[in-house]
Amino acid sequence: MAHSERPRGKCIFCGREMTRGGLSRHFESCAERKKAIAAAEQGDAQRQQLYHLQVQDAWGGDYWLHLEVNGTATLDDLDYYLRGIWLECCGHLSMFTYGGWSEEIPLDTRLDAVLEPGVELTHLYDFGSTSETLIKVRKVRTGRPLTSYPIFLLARNNPPDLRCMECGAPATYLCLGCLYEDDKAGLLCDQHVQTHPHDDYGNPLPLGNSPRMGMCAYCGPSEPPY
Ligand SMILES: [Zn+2]
Ligand SMILES: [Zn+2]
Ligand SMILES: [Zn+2]
Ligand SMILES: [Zn+2]
Repeated sequence: MAHSERPRGKCIFCGREMTRGGLSRHFESCAERKKAIAAAEQGDAQRQQLYHLQVQDAWGGDYWLHLEVNGTATLDDLDYYLRGIWLECCGHLSMFTYGGWSEEIPLDTRLDAVLEPGVELTHLYDFGSTSETLIKVRKVRTGRPLTSYPIFLLARNNPPDLRCMECGAPATYLCLGCLYEDDKAGLLCDQHVQTHPHDDYGNPLPLGNSPRMGMCAYCGPSEPPY
């Protein structure tokens, strides 16, 4: 279903739904987030720099994440997270750079050594059919992390409202044959996928909430790794 509305997502703390930019501002004032931070401060986790990152697909704004990452975590931790929630199809190589295909930043680099407000990194996954992800530092605070993991998901875009090209029901599969050969959307519902004739690119793939849909053999599950 074609529409130009910007995708919204939910604040993990209070459940309010907003656009990417709306959430970015909202996190500064969210009362429930303040409570969560106050509760974490009662704990004994290591105090450190914590970075609010806005992550988005470089080729369109429809897929995005808001993350809070520990300064003591490494780029390797962030790579693992991005692979889990968005990218992993067949174990391709990946790297971080200061922008596009510029100099590679080693994966064992600690996040507090490269991140500061205003910094923007690029993550590249698969050097053939490359997924390019932009990572912007929105804010930094000093405190105790909200989780025992190195990365905490603040929000992500709601799954896009994709519709079967045959009947308009919610789409659950993508046919790469339609997409690559016929210049069609290739979106299919549970029913129409069963009678779809194409298999030049393998069977239609299950859809996921990820910018890698339609690239290589990506088929989800598009879930955060923790
Ligand atoms: Zn909130
Ligand atoms: Zn692949
Ligand atoms: Zn259908
Ligand atoms: Zn097809």
